[in-house]
Amino acid sequence: MADATYVLAIDQGTTSTRAIVFDHSGQIVETGQLEHEQIFPKAGWVEHDPQEIWRNTREVVGMALTRANITHEHIAAVGITNQRETTVVWDKNTGEPVYNAIVWQDTRTQKIVEELGGSEGADKYKAKVGLPLATYFSGPKVKWILDNVDGAREKAEAGDLLFGNTDAWLVWNMTGGTDGGRHITDVTNASRTMLMNLDSLTWNEDIAADMGIPMSMLPEIRSSSEVYGEGRRGGMVPGVPIAGILGDQQAATFGQACFEVGMAKNTYGTGNFMLINTGTEAVPSENGLLTTVAYKIGDNAPIYALEGSIAVTGSLVQWFRDNLGIISSAPEIEDLAKTVEDNGGAYFVPAFSGLFAPYWKADARGALVGLTRYVNKGHIARAVLEATAFQTREVNDAMAADSGVQLTELKVDGGMVANETLMQFQADILGVDVVRPKVAETTALGAAYAAGIAVGYWQGEQDVIDNWAEGKRWTPQMDDAERERTYRLWKKAVTKTFDWVDDDVS
Ligand code: ADP
Repeated sequence: MADATYVLAIDQGTTSTRAIVFDHSGQIVETGQLEHEQIFPKAGWVEHDPQEIWRNTREVVGMALTRANITHEHIAAVGITNQRETTVVWDKNTGEPVYNAIVWQDTRTQKIVEELGGSEGADKYKAKVGLPLATYFSGPKVKWILDNVDGAREKAEAGDLLFGNTDAWLVWNMTGGTDGGRHITDVTNASRTMLMNLDSLTWNEDIAADMGIPMSMLPEIRSSSEVYGEGRRGGMVPGVPIAGILGDQQAATFGQACFEVGMAKNTYGTGNFMLINTGTEAVPSENGLLTTVAYKIGDNAPIYALEGSIAVTGSLVQWFRDNLGIISSAPEIEDLAKTVEDNGGAYFVPAFSGLFAPYWKADARGALVGLTRYVNKGHIARAVLEATAFQTREVNDAMAADSGVQLTELKVDGGMVANETLMQFQADILGVDVVRPKVAETTALGAAYAAGIAVGYWQGEQDVIDNWAEGKRWTPQMDDAERERTYRLWKKAVTKTFDWVDDDVS
């Protein structure tokens, strides 16, 4: 590996899989990207085909290496980042998934979640795992598969089935699959299953038993930065160390160099995810946030975070494009929003799969309120964008209450941060500067750094800090009275979505 000069990151996201070749200064050399099918079998159900994801992964790695005109011999290490919570269960003897991957947004486990909570309710396991019982997390999704797929429970009990988020699915395949594949995951992915003790970073056998999940299905929990294995012979990266795994939001936190207590980032993708570093202490939330692992480098102590997860932000723009057809591409929403001065009194609360942070209300559904004869499509486009910024303000307030830290600026990334109108409105509504880095692909970059640090390609966090550079900054321009007036109306709009689902309404 003497002439290895790059690190490869695989970003297995909700809508697509990307491979990115990074150089030593943290710059992108080349990329490959393929979207995969979003499967919606019923209202509230969202699935992916794990085999399509594995095929796409091989293809995008081939694309990125070919476009960079290099081979695996020039790659020092591979890092993986992934959509978290999305659940794959497969047969270790055949390598075949027993069911499609159940995606993080899927709400089919609502009944399971209520039954598990029983009289103790949603916070039953929170002190141990940092999470409220919700459809979002992997454990209940595994239970659904074992309960509903013919023969799955018998096979699981016989030790034939394996579970993982998509990181584990890819690593198992990349390291050989049925021929000696490693069944491992990292602490950040494990912290999204509802099955890992936050303090000891080990599986909680009692919770697994409550969910009827045999321990033999669970991957070994490893740090986020260490050599887990090597690419299989005959694969795209034979012999190359696979050396970093971080869930996508944790990877972005790492790539944004949020290494000190109180540093935060917000990622604007399909949903929005804001994380604030709380150091070596796992801070319990009293304001609707999740306590999660931010990262763990090799044998170092784990670093924790508080997280505000918002289910629907960029996907509301997609819905506006695909379900209403008012625009034909996501960036066009900005042109439409700019045809008007303000939202015209309209507020759009996209509680399509209930409300995540800080409410955690599964029975909420979307609402567009404040409509008058005056409102036109420009106002609604603006309300769509503003929904993202208002939801972020709510999470920000919850973080300040839980951590005692008032942000002085917010680092942002993700697909929606290309939208300058949204970023300005975000600064206005938060009342603090919003800062976008030069390299906006912070998720893939974070995974690359985790892998590169493990093999000595980078020395440690200081390299990440040194390579981080500011790209653009937005400063608040709205006066305080207007900020509080419009935010008050938003909060009123949110209350209109509560308690919509009935026994005969999903
Ligand atoms: P993910 O990693 O979750 O798949 P990305 O970070 O790639 O998502 O962001 C894609 C999301 O951003 C999509 O939901 C899309 O609707 C939204 N988006 C992309 N460009 C814009 C834009 N210019 N304005 C508003 N939303 C946008």
